[in-house]
Amino acid sequence: MVVENLAEVERKVCEACKRAGRSRSEVTLIAVSKTKPVSMIEELLPGGTRDFGENKVQELCEKYEQLPKDIRWHLIGHLQRNKVKYVVDKACLIHSVDTLRLAQTISEEAVKRQMIVPILVEVNVAGEESKFGVSPKDTEDLIREIAKLPAIFVQGLMTIAPFVTDPEENREYFVNLKKLSVDIKSKNIDNVCMNVLSMGMTGDYEVAIEEGATMVRVGTGIFGERNYIK
Ligand SMILES: *Cc1c(COP(=O)(O)O)cnc(C)c1O
Repeated sequence: MVVENLAEVERKVCEACKRAGRSRSEVTLIAVSKTKPVSMIEELLPGGTRDFGENKVQELCEKYEQLPKDIRWHLIGHLQRNKVKYVVDKACLIHSVDTLRLAQTISEEAVKRQMIVPILVEVNVAGEESKFGVSPKDTEDLIREIAKLPAIFVQGLMTIAPFVTDPEENREYFVNLKKLSVDIKSKNIDNVCMNVLSMGMTGDYEVAIEEGATMVRVGTGIFGERNYIK
């Protein structure tokens, strides 16, 4: 079932790219496997899928141990500073940095391991109180501070748009995040590149691609509904 679901999502990703006059190669489809068993991830490996998203450090680490090392694990959920040490060398990209303190902790761990950690800054683009993320107006200042840290590399922005039934309602937020990214890129800040725009989930990834997403994070559309009651 997951293989068929992925094929359907892939088809829609291609169509959205076409509508937007973009190349399919500009968009990374991240299969969000949180709460789902390793066996479901394994079903997707023969087809070449290697980008998987997890929102909890412990779950990412457990799956990391059990699965091939060429998988690219994306940490997409809120990260607590005391868990940074477990994940800096396992995640290919941390999508959810929204405070200087968290960035400092990541940089300190990275220095210890003599590595550079790529991150995205999470923006609360709709100003929802329930969500993590820095406000659009504070984003540039935060990035300027993070960029001074020795072992961190800001690759772009991430957002979790509001939960809506009509994806068109989120189009303006995606447009705004893209604008913010272009604006910050134009400032040419050292250690900041703004090549990545991680936005769009099962309900709205096509709209996000039309508005410039370079990474979409699709869970339910590939793996089915999540059941949090175990
Ligand atoms: C769970 C999650 C997703 C995937 O959500 P779906 O609606 O199931 O596609 C994407 N991004 C983040 C940050 C998530 O936590």
